[in-house]
Amino acid sequence: MRTTVLAERARCTGCGACVSVCRRGAIRMQADAEGFLYPAVDAARCVECGACEARCPAGREHPERDVRAFGAQNTDEAVRRASSSGGAFTALARQTLARGGVVFGAAFGGGFRVEHVGALDEKGIVPMRGSKYVQSDASEAIAQAAELLERGERVLFSGTPCQIDGLLARVGTDWGDRLLTVDFVCHGVPSPGVFASYLRAMEEEQGSAVTAYAFRDKRRGWKDFSAVATFADGTERAGTQADEPFLRGFLANLYLRPSCAVCTALRGARHAADLTLADLWGAGDICPERDDDAGLSLVLVNTPAGRQALDACAGELAVFPVDASRLTRANPSLIAPAKPHPRRARFFRAYRRNGFSSTLVERLLAPPGRLERLVRRIASLPGALLRRLRKAARG
Ligand SMILES: Cc1cc2nc3c(=O)[nH]c(=O)nc-3n(C[C@H](O)[C@H](O)[C@H](O)COP(=O)(O)OP(=O)(O)OC[C@H]3O[C@@H](n4cnc5c(N)ncnc54)[C@H](O)[C@@H]3O)c2cc1C
Repeated sequence: MRTTVLAERARCTGCGACVSVCRRGAIRMQADAEGFLYPAVDAARCVECGACEARCPAGREHPERDVRAFGAQNTDEAVRRASSSGGAFTALARQTLARGGVVFGAAFGGGFRVEHVGALDEKGIVPMRGSKYVQSDASEAIAQAAELLERGERVLFSGTPCQIDGLLARVGTDWGDRLLTVDFVCHGVPSPGVFASYLRAMEEEQGSAVTAYAFRDKRRGWKDFSAVATFADGTERAGTQADEPFLRGFLANLYLRPSCAVCTALRGARHAADLTLADLWGAGDICPERDDDAGLSLVLVNTPAGRQALDACAGELAVFPVDASRLTRANPSLIAPAKPHPRRARFFRAYRRNGFSSTLVERLLAPPGRLERLVRRIASLPGALLRRLRKAARG
């Protein structure tokens, strides 16, 4: 009797392709104790057809492609300032809208839950703008995109590399120029449950509800961006990567999804999407003449369809080639997955008892004491050496 899709849970990226492929409606996404969504199968509805597992993208190999790297800046200054990097996403989305297509991307829903939605017009893409450092639920959007494609519509789907992989596992690639896929260089996705708990903790402390949240506010600049919470009482709380607790925990890999730690197949030249977006970190060295600290996108062109889509944005995007060999130093996520923080398990033990707390994050991110350093060093010794040391200690 099937209760989940993948036996090996740690490989499940939560893309939701399985939900969208189940004709019996037997699968729904359910939060686990860490607050991440996993597929749960209703045994009473499941007929064991195996379609979910057959379409699951986990473990799929991806060919290495001939990737070209470009820098890009949206020429609409308001759009660039409202976007996380250089506003490349908006230019691509506008091209799709202009051709009558539907754009899918991540937006805040009720209670600041991050979910994928579809947009038919310019107003619809505004909430997609800006990175949300929380895993988005794309399961319904994948089903909707599949339906639209089957009906002959044009679709741009933007998401994490694993969401695009899930979409393509569900719909295939034979859509000509009607399907454009856009992913990004991904550090990893934090737990939606942890983010919800963090918002509740802030609201309690402030005694006021959060009415808006931005992870990438550029008032201090693109490089030194801030996360800004706005409250119903009119006040704001802002913090940078150096002092804002949720951002600090995210960037230190304290609460990323387990599958992010083993995400090697969708990096470098192996992205499944037509185009891969990123921050052009290192711009000060790579293209100082373009760097005004208001935001620069890196655009990796992975396929001919991606090249065509980028060329079509010429009116709105200033595009220039960059030297790909100089990119990884400032942006390690381009090639390597994030290594979970050694105190991740301790975070989640405490989180399960009391929810998110800034003090907890600060305590766990403090440098380890001498005893902990020693324990970690011993734990990292090769097995044979450990056995010899233990034998010696026993005399
Ligand atoms: C979780 C996460 C981790 C990232 N890690 C890196 C990194 O390590 N290095 C790097 O260079 N860039 C990273 N990025 C990408 C970067 O922050 C920008 O999204 C990218 O440069 C595009 O910026 P833009 O200015 O073109 O468009 P924007 O308008 O800022 O981008 C918005 C696009 O991102 C999508 N999006 C936003 N949040 C999510 C989400 N939670 N899940 C799925 N899609 C989402 C929207 O659908 C929209 O398509 C990350 C983004 C996210 C969401």
